[in-house]
Amino acid sequence: MPDIAALSAELSGIDLSDDRALLRLKSRDFYWYSPILKKRLDGKAAELLARPKNESEVLRILTACRARRVPVTVRGGATGNYGQCVPLEGGVLLDMTAMASPIALVDGVVEVEAGAKMIDLDLWCREQGWELKLWPSTKRTATIGGFVAGGGAGVGGIAHGTMRERGNFYGARVATMQDPPRILDLEGVAANPVNRTYGTTGVMTRIKVPLTPAQAWRDVAIAFDDFVPASRFALELAFSDGIPKKMCGVFDSQLPPYFKGLAEAVPAGNALALVMVAPAALGALKELAADHGGRIVAEQDAVQAERDAEATPFYEYCWNHTTLQVLKRDRGVTYLQCRFPFEDTLKACEAVRIRFRDEVWMHTECVRFGGRTTMSALPVLRWTTQERLYEIIAAFEAEGIGIANPHVLTIEEGSNYRRVPGDQLGFKRMADPLGLLNPGKMRDFSPLETTA
Ligand SMILES: Cc1cc2nc3c(=O)[nH]c(=O)nc-3n(C[C@H](O)[C@H](O)[C@H](O)COP(=O)(O)OP(=O)(O)OC[C@H]3O[C@@H](n4cnc5c(N)ncnc54)[C@H](O)[C@@H]3O)c2cc1C
Repeated sequence: MPDIAALSAELSGIDLSDDRALLRLKSRDFYWYSPILKKRLDGKAAELLARPKNESEVLRILTACRARRVPVTVRGGATGNYGQCVPLEGGVLLDMTAMASPIALVDGVVEVEAGAKMIDLDLWCREQGWELKLWPSTKRTATIGGFVAGGGAGVGGIAHGTMRERGNFYGARVATMQDPPRILDLEGVAANPVNRTYGTTGVMTRIKVPLTPAQAWRDVAIAFDDFVPASRFALELAFSDGIPKKMCGVFDSQLPPYFKGLAEAVPAGNALALVMVAPAALGALKELAADHGGRIVAEQDAVQAERDAEATPFYEYCWNHTTLQVLKRDRGVTYLQCRFPFEDTLKACEAVRIRFRDEVWMHTECVRFGGRTTMSALPVLRWTTQERLYEIIAAFEAEGIGIANPHVLTIEEGSNYRRVPGDQLGFKRMADPLGLLNPGKMRDFSPLETTA
């Protein structure tokens, strides 16, 4: 058992807390979406919360923890879905949210402290005519560090792919758990080993991401008689190079009634597409929607909506917010994460949508992968048993649909098509030989040095 009192004394001057109620609260994320993870993770908590103000405090914490063999789990906004920031072996929870300052924006690349909230970062960039290429639907609460280390897909994916695409993650400053801990400046492919590795390979203190010129995005909601024309519309929009867009999600008719603030606008039994499009392309979008039998049922200024605490930007119905919108009223559901094939995308989607229509409510998002466009999906699923969940997963896989399983804890088991290329295991052996960073989340790693 680590001597937490002695560790706290050694770290005096740093913002610390050993309040048990606070530790329980801060040691949770949104793993409870998964009944399987809920069972495994409820009750797990850190023994000490540390909130560093700068890089030198991060290094002091890592040095003291390494010397005492205390695990360190990094925490951003704690909006992850797979218990990524839940400490499995106690120790220190390293809360990065006090390190949130933008540092510089040069030639369309922003450098920022890793604990910055993505909405604040995007607003800061917007003032200079730029915006983030990608953000999660949790933009209003998630940090850039958590997005790089634990997310990586979302709004912007229809135009820019995911954070695993070369060029979307410029680099990071990373604190290691070596003897002694040190700071590495990583850029380009050298930074891949900290990209979507759940904080197991280092603590990012600063991050650089390339930006894209800012747009005054419009949110548009389009109702369709059925899911199939809505999906055909979405795919044609995704392939329409002349229409600048940030997002297009499609929802089968069971889902819109759960969308508080939008449900009333969608006729009962209709499927829905939610789109973010540049103002200059509104006319073209409306023509395209009409070609597929779509009717515009709501429209708003997307940038204004996200600044207004009372409003709901349409992206907060999309990506993994769809599941949350349903969970708010019905705790008997969970979800899947999938990617449809690049060819015959809709055929594969229809095969599972029709077969499981009562149990699986289809929700897709257009996204690019390696220069090709397809739909990924976060369908909402009626929870019965683990066996049934795995039967459904197997049926999806039999149709050529990739599954990034959100009901498991480790990078290796859960990432599938979302895994970032690179030698993450080799890097971990170098950067964290004792395996103290978020232990239990990289399955293939075993500690190289003795922890005795
Ligand atoms: C309603 C809802 C919607 C969501 N939508 C999306 C979506 O659209 N796209 C998407 O990708 N995800 C989505 N997610 C998951 C999650 O919100 C995002 O991935 C988000 O970016 C995580 O950021 P965070 O700051 O909350 O990270 P946390 O949950 O705090 O951490 C995530 C992981 O990153 C590690 N980490 C955090 N900061 C650092 C750092 N500085 N250095 C090293 N490691 C670090 C943590 O240890 C943890 O393993 C959603 C979740 C919910 C609940």
